[in-house]
Amino acid sequence: MAAHRYHIWPKDPGAHLYEVRLTVAQPAPDGQVFAMPAWIPGSYMIRDYAKHVVSARAEADGREVGLTKLDKSCWRAAPSDRELTLVLEVYAHDESVRGAHLDATHAFFNGTCVFPAVVGQESTPCDLEIAAPEAPFGKGWRVATSMRRVTAAEYDFGAYTTEDYAELIDHPVEIGELSIGEFEAGGIAHAIAIRGKTRVDMARLCHDLQTVCEQQQSLLGPPRDLDRYLFLLNAPGSGYGGLEHRWSSALICGRDNLPARGDENVSEEYRTFLGLVSHEYFHLWNVKRMKPAAFTPYDLSRETHTGLLWVYEGVTSYYDDLALVRSGAVPVESYLEVVGRTVTNVIRGQGRRRQSVAASSFDAWTKFYKQDANAPNAIVSYYTKGALIAMCLDLKLRDETGGSTTLDDVMKEAWSRWGETGEGMPEEGFEKLCIEVSGLDLQDFFDATVRGTGALPLESLLKSHGIDYKLRRSAGGKDKGGKRADDANLPSVWLGANLGTRNGRTVFLAVHNEGPAERAGVSPGDELVALDGLRINIKGCEARTRRYRPGDKSELSVFRGDELISLRMKWQEAPADTCYLELTEDADDELVSRRDAWLGQ
Ligand SMILES: [Zn+2]
Repeated sequence: MAAHRYHIWPKDPGAHLYEVRLTVAQPAPDGQVFAMPAWIPGSYMIRDYAKHVVSARAEADGREVGLTKLDKSCWRAAPSDRELTLVLEVYAHDESVRGAHLDATHAFFNGTCVFPAVVGQESTPCDLEIAAPEAPFGKGWRVATSMRRVTAAEYDFGAYTTEDYAELIDHPVEIGELSIGEFEAGGIAHAIAIRGKTRVDMARLCHDLQTVCEQQQSLLGPPRDLDRYLFLLNAPGSGYGGLEHRWSSALICGRDNLPARGDENVSEEYRTFLGLVSHEYFHLWNVKRMKPAAFTPYDLSRETHTGLLWVYEGVTSYYDDLALVRSGAVPVESYLEVVGRTVTNVIRGQGRRRQSVAASSFDAWTKFYKQDANAPNAIVSYYTKGALIAMCLDLKLRDETGGSTTLDDVMKEAWSRWGETGEGMPEEGFEKLCIEVSGLDLQDFFDATVRGTGALPLESLLKSHGIDYKLRRSAGGKDKGGKRADDANLPSVWLGANLGTRNGRTVFLAVHNEGPAERAGVSPGDELVALDGLRINIKGCEARTRRYRPGDKSELSVFRGDELISLRMKWQEAPADTCYLELTEDADDELVSRRDAWLGQ
C-alpha cells in the first residue's frame, strides 16, 4: 500500500502555529476517519492533543471535501475515491518533553501532538517531509531526530520515513540552533543534540554518556533493531524531565547542571542528569520494546490501565542509578547517598500507608499524574517505592540463592520472553517469572511489597550486603536525606507540613495527616504570617522551630483568603524520617564480596 504522506511546516513561529498536511492515497470508501492521540506513551495522563488543532479541512484534487468532527479527537472526511489530503493548523506552545513547541528560536514536536492517525490504516508506512520556516525564521537551524532519513541530509530538513504510525509518533523532532556531539556505544552510532547556551564540555559529556549506555547495554544486550540512538536535550535555565522512545529520548535539564570545560568532578546536579540519561536509555528495553500486555498495542484514545508501572518505572529507576555506580561513573558513597534520598522520599510520604504501588500504577492517570495538596497523604510513587522494591527483590534473590540468582537474571529472562518476541507481559507475568527463575517462594514478598502498604525490609537486606540503614530527624525544608547529620543540631519538633514561597508569601503547600499543623486546623493554601505573635517567613520558621520542644503550645496566625485566622498548635516530636546509608564499618570479607558483587566493584 502506498505510504501516507505527512508534511509539517513551522508556518508561523510568532503565532506558534504548525501547518500539517496528511495525504492518504486510498481513503476508506465510506469516509476516512482521522484521530489525534489523547495521550503520549510514557506519560500516563489524558492530554487530548486534538484541542490544540485550531483549524482542520480536507481536500481532493484541489477541491474542498466535507469534514465532520466526530468527537474530541476524531474527524471524518466525506467519502472520496481520490487521494485525500487533510490540512491542520496546530498551536504549539508547550515546552515539556511530551508536548510541541514553536517560536522564533526553535521548533520541537512529538508526533502525538501534530500527526493524526489514518484510522484503519495505522500499519501503513508513513513518509514525513519536514519543511523549513520562511525567513526571517530558521537561520542556522538544524533538524535532530532519530527518524530514518530518505532524501534529507544529516541534521537537515527534507524527507524522512517510518514503518507505520506507531513509529511515526515515536521519534520526537528538535529543530533549531543545536550543539551536536556524536559517539559510539557498543559499536552503535549515538548522538546528543542540545538546544541552549550551555558552554558544555561536549567531549566529556559524550565520554560519560558512552560509559552509561555501554553499562546499560551490558545487561540485556542491544536490541536487534537498535542501529542508532539520539538524546534530544533542551537545556534552559532550569527544568527537569525526560520521555523515552525506542531510538531516542527527549530530555530537559538546567544548563548549568552540565559540566563546563575544565570541570572534573561529578556535581550533584550532573549526577542527577546522568541518572536521567541512564533512566531513559534503560527504557529502550524496559517499556519501549518489552511492555505490559495492556500496551500491546497502545490504545491512544483512552486511559489504559495496568498494575505494572512499578515494574516499568520502578525497576528502571533502580537500574538507572545502579548503572552509574556499576560503570564507575559515580563512587559507591555517592550511590548510597542517592538511595538514601530515595528512601527518605518514600518514607516521608504518608500516602505509602494508604496506597500500594500496584494501585498507584493502575490509577496513575488520575492520581500520580494529577497530584493535589493531599497527594503526600494519599498516594505513593511507583517510581521511588518501585525502585526500592526492585532493590529489595534483587538483594533478597542474592541472599536466598547464595548469589546464584539476581534481578539481572530475571530481567534477562523477561527480555527473552517478552522483549525479543514483542509479546505483552501479562499482569502477573513479572512476579511469576521471578518465582520461576529463582525457585523461591516469593508470593508473600510480592503481596506485602507490591499490593501491601507496610514497611519494606530494607534494613535487613542492606545489612546482609554490608550497608547500614540509618534514620534521623530532618534538618529542615532543604534536607533531602542521604547524608549523616549531627543529631544535636537538628530541630526536636516539627510542624507536620511543607511550606513554600508563593508570590513572596509563606504558604502551606501540603499538610501531613495527624501532624501538629493538621491538628491545629491549618489548610493547604493558608499563608503563614506569624508564630506566637511574631512575623515569620519560611527561613525564619525553620530557625524559630528550634526554640520549641515537644508539648509546647503556639499560636499560628494565617491568612485563609483575606481572613486572618488564629490557630492553637501543640508541637510534636519530629519523626526520624530522613535516611542515610553507610558502609558497615567492621564488614567481614564475606559481606564485602557480596556488596561488591552487587554494586559491580
Ligand atoms: Zn521512566
